[in-house]
Amino acid sequence: MVKNASVEIGQRHRDIAARLPELKADALLVSAPANVRYLSDYTGSNGLVLLLPSETHFFTDPRYEISARQNIAGHVHIVKGPLIAGVIQVIKRKRLKKIGFESGWTQFDAYQRLKEGLPLGVSLVPVGRIIEERRMVKSPAEIDTIRRSVNLNSEAFARVLKRIRPGVRELDVAAEIEFQMKMLGAEKPSFDTIIAAGPHSALPHSHPTGHQIGANELLLIDMGASLEGYASDMTRVIHLGPPPKRIREMYRAVLEAQLAGIDAVREGTTAGKVDAATRNALKKYQLDKAFVHSTGHGLGLEIHEPPRLGKKDQTKLQAGMAITIEPGVYIEGLAGIRIEDTVLVTKNGCEVLTPTSKEFVHL
Ligand code: ZN
Ligand code: ZN
Repeated sequence: MVKNASVEIGQRHRDIAARLPELKADALLVSAPANVRYLSDYTGSNGLVLLLPSETHFFTDPRYEISARQNIAGHVHIVKGPLIAGVIQVIKRKRLKKIGFESGWTQFDAYQRLKEGLPLGVSLVPVGRIIEERRMVKSPAEIDTIRRSVNLNSEAFARVLKRIRPGVRELDVAAEIEFQMKMLGAEKPSFDTIIAAGPHSALPHSHPTGHQIGANELLLIDMGASLEGYASDMTRVIHLGPPPKRIREMYRAVLEAQLAGIDAVREGTTAGKVDAATRNALKKYQLDKAFVHSTGHGLGLEIHEPPRLGKKDQTKLQAGMAITIEPGVYIEGLAGIRIEDTVLVTKNGCEVLTPTSKEFVHL
């Protein structure tokens, strides 16, 4: 829970509820787990929120009764069986007519059950990702938590770096990283840790294997921690033994692109312009075609959240957004190099939160 969580959650309710008229809805049913958490601090796996203009209803099952009654503000409903049955009761009792729902997140079963259970004259209004929109800009308390998550992640990296040597398996490195994260206070990794040696690194989302890292191999480490629900995300590439010239050149090009991306970040610019900055830097080295993903993404309660820093994306960056800058180049059979920091958008630029050095480490 972030500091002053209940005050902050109350403000979130009011801000989202204030948008109900423009959505032509008199209530909003929230199903996306991260959005439910954002509005209730509930961290379990079976919760729904029904947001009305001036009250909030939270639904969960008996397993969560004690913690929900202790921690969740507003009306708490403990429902046996499908939670939608409890939602329908409140809709009837409050005589609500237009129920907004998260069309990207509502399961078909739940939608059917809702539709069939509602009285005549009540309509369901699909709404877009309005809670995700609000989640893009972080509060000072959220920024503080992300900052701590980023620092913890970098500390776990520093501890593990000392133990990497030839013969260690990719899986060993992943396990050690996740162990250190937890020893430092993280609940879990914010995504499956990527440890990719040699040619494996050319697959941007490679999974760690039993492969033993060679005496002259490159190693890509993409790791993130989840601390009090908030994600961090960092990629570094290191080399065992002295790296060949081709790899050094690739590394320099990616670093130049990453710094160009960081340089382009400021409030008011578009996500697409930041993406163009990294791509243009790689073009100089004819490596732009080997850059096969977008420049970065927002992060917070989820590891990937809006905005996406992709080609031609028109989203305007705002101060308080936490995003990653992570260009990479991937050459099949040779290597992949990606460098990723978590940064905070500010009025005049950005603050790089990740403290880990980007000098090319040779072990
Ligand atoms: Zn990453
Ligand atoms: Zn990332």
